[in-house]
Amino acid sequence: MASQHTHSDPSTRSSAYDYQSDDVERPELAATLSSLVDGEVRLDDYTRTLYATDASAYEVRPVGVVYPTSTDDVAAVVAYCDRNDIAVLPRGGGTSLAGQSVNDAVVLDCSKHMDALLDVDADSRRVTAQPGITLGKLNEALESENLKFAPDPAWGDKSVLGGAIGNNSTGAHSLVYGKTDAYIESVEAVLADGTVTRFGDVTVGELRDAADADSEDLRPRIYAGVLAVLDDHAEEVDSRYPELKRNVSGYNFDRLVEEARDGDSEITDDATVNLARLLAGSEGTLAIVTEATVSLESIPNTKAVALLTYDGLLDALADVEPILEHDPAAVEVMDDVLLGLARDTAEFADVVGMLPEGTDSVLLVEFYADDDAEGRRQVADLLADRVPGADSEADPTDEGVRTDADHRAAAAMEAHDADTRAKFWKMRKSGLPILLGRTTDEKHIAYIEDTAVPARNLPEYVADVQEILDDYDTYASYYAHAGPGVLHIRPLVNTKSVEGLEAFEAIAERVTDLVVKYGGSVSGEHGDGRARTQWNRKLYGEELWSAFRELKTAYDPNWTLNPGNVCGDHDLTENLRFDPDYGFESGFSPELNWDNDNGFQGMVELCHGCGGCRGEQSTTGGVMCPTYRAAHEEIQSTRGRANMLRQAMSGGLPEEELFSDEFTEEVLDLCIGCKGCARDCPSEVDMAKLRTEVLHEKHQRDGTSLRDRVFANIDRLSALGSRFAPLANAAASLPGAGFLTEKTLGIASERDVPTFANESLVEWFEARGGATVSEADADRRAVVFPDTYTNYNDPSVGKAAIEVLEAAGVHVTVPDGLPGSGRPPLSKGFVEKAREDARANVETLAPMVEDGWDVVVVEPSDAVMFQSDYLDLLSGEDVERIAANAYGVCEYLDRFRLDERLAFDTEAAEPLSYHGHCHQKATKKDHHAVGVLRRAGYAVNPIDSTCCGMAGSFGYEAEHYSMSQAIADLLRDQLESSDGESVVAPGTSCRTQLDEESPTHPVEKLADALA
Ligand SMILES: Cc1cc2nc3c(=O)[nH]c(=O)nc-3n(C[C@H](O)[C@H](O)[C@H](O)COP(=O)(O)OP(=O)(O)OC[C@H]3O[C@@H](n4cnc5c(N)ncnc54)[C@H](O)[C@@H]3O)c2cc1C
Ligand code: SF4
Ligand code: SF4
Repeated sequence: MASQHTHSDPSTRSSAYDYQSDDVERPELAATLSSLVDGEVRLDDYTRTLYATDASAYEVRPVGVVYPTSTDDVAAVVAYCDRNDIAVLPRGGGTSLAGQSVNDAVVLDCSKHMDALLDVDADSRRVTAQPGITLGKLNEALESENLKFAPDPAWGDKSVLGGAIGNNSTGAHSLVYGKTDAYIESVEAVLADGTVTRFGDVTVGELRDAADADSEDLRPRIYAGVLAVLDDHAEEVDSRYPELKRNVSGYNFDRLVEEARDGDSEITDDATVNLARLLAGSEGTLAIVTEATVSLESIPNTKAVALLTYDGLLDALADVEPILEHDPAAVEVMDDVLLGLARDTAEFADVVGMLPEGTDSVLLVEFYADDDAEGRRQVADLLADRVPGADSEADPTDEGVRTDADHRAAAAMEAHDADTRAKFWKMRKSGLPILLGRTTDEKHIAYIEDTAVPARNLPEYVADVQEILDDYDTYASYYAHAGPGVLHIRPLVNTKSVEGLEAFEAIAERVTDLVVKYGGSVSGEHGDGRARTQWNRKLYGEELWSAFRELKTAYDPNWTLNPGNVCGDHDLTENLRFDPDYGFESGFSPELNWDNDNGFQGMVELCHGCGGCRGEQSTTGGVMCPTYRAAHEEIQSTRGRANMLRQAMSGGLPEEELFSDEFTEEVLDLCIGCKGCARDCPSEVDMAKLRTEVLHEKHQRDGTSLRDRVFANIDRLSALGSRFAPLANAAASLPGAGFLTEKTLGIASERDVPTFANESLVEWFEARGGATVSEADADRRAVVFPDTYTNYNDPSVGKAAIEVLEAAGVHVTVPDGLPGSGRPPLSKGFVEKAREDARANVETLAPMVEDGWDVVVVEPSDAVMFQSDYLDLLSGEDVERIAANAYGVCEYLDRFRLDERLAFDTEAAEPLSYHGHCHQKATKKDHHAVGVLRRAGYAVNPIDSTCCGMAGSFGYEAEHYSMSQAIADLLRDQLESSDGESVVAPGTSCRTQLDEESPTHPVEKLADALA
């Protein structure tokens, strides 16, 4: 294999990644494509594995991937592939849910290099960009102009403009904004033969003049194809296209015909049609967009939300049509299944708890308004009409809409401030994570998940769907965009079993019949892809099905571009990721406790490919996934790692690949174990834990490296180092010491190794005579656990913690003779050593905890070790008791409000920027320090940061240094634009990484401020 090293790229400040495997099935093709383009060409096994899936239930290995840097690159690849009978698939974020972004094709991943914002024309409210820009980044750049690209697909911070065009995407506010097609002005596109062209407005007459079905050139043939639709099929389009704001099945014929009529009943040559808009929803099958000019909308001044509650889902759905009379911007539904699941989660319970007793279903109705008063009026009028008993916050107007529909809502709540509105929306969005968190073989699969019917038909449609699901003894939740008639319905099915697969297909077929019966569409949002293409024939009939195929042939005579989709031969049941032939064999018995359904296998198979781990820091925030954010490589995302692991254990990669050095270096080692995914991934894929399992097994098979053993045993070595502190510190500072540690241990020469304190925390505590607050005087007793770094390297943080605790009247002890927490060995895959440490600590501490002591830990990653990871290593009451009674130091102060017993003097204190530790964020314990610091009087600006990139030993490792720095740069940028004047960070790693900022632990700030 070639280099797995990352290197700094000063121009982009991102970690450049030059991975190329030698394992290339078609080296000649790779060489030829490489000679044609400036961008990278990767046809190796790993890359093909990584791009075999998207967010759908499907899996198809591509030929390989090209990362084009320009239109010329795209054109060269397409021209070559077209001549050589190789399919081409343009791809963005790969967040499609129907399988349209996987194919047996050369993938053109435009998201990596072709993501530039080219021009913003605020006056004409237009923007021109390359297709690989995420909608999040696009809107971030437009915000200062008070403009936005209006279609708002839920994953817009991960999905790109090309993908939005390809799928004709839209979101919760389609009632006001429609779909992407409404905003496309013109595009530059590469045609199937590699010709670069532009599409935009053209009159029907101009089309006629230039059309030539027999031309050698594609453009005249395309014109002829478009004219055939207008001249031969317009009436069929009228009669077969559903009357829906949201229909993305088939090609965009209805818009084309509507434009050609220009308000008249007849098509005239003077009418203007926009051929760029015909590409919307074409799923990469007609042409590849290399540049797009789209129009923009103003950001609304304010919004108002009403939450209407119902005793039953059908009541809620029956209320949608009358609510639409009020001209809302969004009407979203949540059913009892969803609310019930959300009620049982820690994260959403409080939001669902706001609902009145007995609520079965909810409609969230949002209005856009010029000002708060208008928003309140809109809600008041809605309530006066739909929930007459409800007291509205403003008076309804006499002119407000009053329908004569039956009243069905039981109660209503209003939200006029941003926080409450966000809470209501959070509840609406709570569904997906909960549904997708299943680790069973039954999954809530996306395949009838975005059917749409006119709102008036929703109650009957849903009642009939329910009957179908009952017939197959399964269920689904019904939620999402009720206003435009789009419901997300994901039946629980097991496609690994023959019966499950039969049910899967039968449900789809019967639901399609219902959709046709109720005048709807098989896809109101996510597209045809592999899941729904076959139903277009039934939905639109033979004439239009043939017309689709003829248009496809006019654009793409050899069916080179993403063949099979929209009007091709994709079969819903083929190429499923999980089918009856699927087999799973990890080749080893897991060492850690996996208490989820299907255990280790269930977790390996949990990632459903949504691409949530591809979000950027500034648009997505949170922790997941720092390595993707630094490298912009699929293999560096949680999704990439999860796909690689699953494929390696289910036959997608050669046997034993899982334990190869290449797999370890490329897939596992660069995961920094920050646990960001365990919190931020909608399904809570715990990659850090998966990685530990595989590394552990690798160690059993191949042994361990000296460096890994050094890091895994850092507690013992630190004890030694501390004993000989002056000598050890002097040796480390000798000239050439860095060079030597890099050569012998692989520790980056750029890093200073930590120095040792002459007196450990334990020694200091004993020397001063132990606790200063007696047990008799204290109402709480705390064991301050001497974690390795605090004890041997920087006892001053531990002293500060003890000072604050004792000032708050806590009786403290610092036990001697305990090993480290086990964090370093666990993160290196030394499970036995971690378990040994955990057991020793539990044995000593459990009796104390049972006697009423609390365990307090200064170092966050060690605190989380006690609170969470120990439960992966050990079982039984003792460890559970420890986990329940262990606290990070600020968490402890906050939890028991111990800080309220203290007096602080922070009058002259500078404002602080707070960077939390990723492990504490993952366990939702990160807010405590901010709360305590603020109560002490500090102005605190918490940074929505990812991992610092140091991640224990990771940043010390020579080959990981640049990745570590690239991740840190994300944080440095955030700190630079923060209001804080000094930085607080509870993590030792973080403070080491941010060395030049001289950061401190929050508890040191508290100790400083003690009055
Ligand atoms: C959790 C979740 C929520 C979602 N919510 C929504 C939602 O609210 N609304 C919605 O509409 N969708 C939603 N989606 C589906 C998906 O995110 C959107 O359709 C999105 O716009 C796809 O963008 P992408 O960059 O991932 O495109 P990809 O999946 O990479 O590609 C989508 C299609 O566009 C084609 N394509 C990509 N680039 C080009 C190009 N340059 N030229 C021509 N064709 C191209 C591809 O071939 C493919 O057929 C959701 C998906 C997930 C996982
Ligand atoms: S790891 Fe999580 S966020 Fe990433 S693709 Fe998989 S399910 Fe989605
Ligand atoms: S643990 Fe962190 S680095 Fe590893 S996959 Fe999860 S988010 Fe990414």
